[in-house]
Amino acid sequence: MNQLFEQLQPYLDKSIAYDAALTLLNWDIETLAPKTAISNTSKIIGLLSMESYHTLVNPEVKDLITRLSVEQEQKNLTEIQRVIVRKIKKDSDTMDKIPAKEYQDYSELVASSSSIWAKAKESNRFEDFAKTLEKLINYEKKFAQYCKKENETIYDYLLDKYEEGMNTAKLDIFFDKIRSVIVPLLKKIVEKNKVIDKSYNSKSYDIETQKKFCRFLAEYIGFDFNRGVMAESAHPFTTHLHNKDVRITNHYIENNLESAIFSVIHEGGHAIYEMQIADDISLTPVGTGTSMGFHESQSRLFENHFGRNKMFWIPLFDKLKETYKEQLNELSLDDFILAINKVEPSFIRTEADELTYPLHIMIRYELEKQIFSGELKIDELADAWDKKYEEYLGITPPTRTLGILQDVHWSCGMFGYFPSYALGSAISAQIYSDMEKKFPIETYLKESNLAPIHDYLKENFHKYGATKTTNELLIAATNEDLNVDYYITYLTKKYTELYNLDENLK
Ligand code: ZN
Repeated sequence: MNQLFEQLQPYLDKSIAYDAALTLLNWDIETLAPKTAISNTSKIIGLLSMESYHTLVNPEVKDLITRLSVEQEQKNLTEIQRVIVRKIKKDSDTMDKIPAKEYQDYSELVASSSSIWAKAKESNRFEDFAKTLEKLINYEKKFAQYCKKENETIYDYLLDKYEEGMNTAKLDIFFDKIRSVIVPLLKKIVEKNKVIDKSYNSKSYDIETQKKFCRFLAEYIGFDFNRGVMAESAHPFTTHLHNKDVRITNHYIENNLESAIFSVIHEGGHAIYEMQIADDISLTPVGTGTSMGFHESQSRLFENHFGRNKMFWIPLFDKLKETYKEQLNELSLDDFILAINKVEPSFIRTEADELTYPLHIMIRYELEKQIFSGELKIDELADAWDKKYEEYLGITPPTRTLGILQDVHWSCGMFGYFPSYALGSAISAQIYSDMEKKFPIETYLKESNLAPIHDYLKENFHKYGATKTTNELLIAATNEDLNVDYYITYLTKKYTELYNLDENLK
């Protein structure tokens, strides 16, 4: 083993240990902890976060990383070690450029801004959050100025933070293509006015029965309960300590059958990714998903490409009807498939259907671009949001709560994050298409034979964790870069068929 890397190892181990402890505390706050715990436990989390941060950002580690980055030393490292060194160097270079005092002030602002946002959302008053938002944006601008490359715009710098190599030049093309297909497709669907009866979904569904069925579904899609647990929280999420302890949450709504079903399939997709990461990188800084966009591609692959596919439900539909005999008595499989894919312009991103979802992302992308180029002022933001909804979805949010205040992201200082969701959808379509070329995926789904699918995902993507970037993974598996055409073809074909849109042509 390389001697210098050996000296770095205890720092890495300690950082992983802190992160695991923090993950558990955060998990606990969201699931089991009593409500009164939050303020005190948040202080503990704050302290541990600082410890965790300084474990890797300190002069000793900096010195080791500098020496390990020299070409001569690089030759003596394994490939995984090289990636780890590069990752820590990138983080510490960034932190070096931001004055410590400013970063501390910023962290304190972020810690308090989510609750300011939550209150503003509750009372439908954007003006109560606007000042905080403006401060957050100013910090982002300032930090980007310190860190960005000379010719890079501020927003490009922010985008690259979440998806390496991503920028507005690429995303403009990406979203233009999506827009040019989805907007006319949506228009046709709205004009078609096809009657889709979704009334079964809002009947009453016993919560305990829902829990049992969702546990069955999680296991069915490949969530390994020997390596993971499932709990309840207000908003479903996935987290992990390492590849042998992956946790998902779900929420159950009495008058909404689909909500818990599709949440558990979605989070299950995230979880299976983390569970299939190779043992030898699991307890390292690269032992996790490679990017937010790629992570989201795995959850959407399960939720949309599998979970909203008729083939997936063929072996499951009887069990679903058996579980909810009374409520689903009249429902046929075809009507169910139509209903779970129903397209309807709506205000809330997280509840949007698969076709209108990218429009919600495009709106946020365009607004963020204008915020960071200086075109849009804070006091113009809420109305600009509503105008975009009118333009893209033909609906105007009646309140700020259903408009600009709906997402938590900005209050956490996450700017440039939203495009990851759309990238995830596009990546999942590209991967599904690759699977179709390589094996009879629909037959596998129909026969409940998911093992070959898991193996394919593990061998091509999951096992590598963050040792490879999204594009490296895609090129190695599918022979090409991220290509939005797969996504466009998929959406066009799917909705043309579901809504019989080419009927007139026949
Ligand atoms: Zn997700």
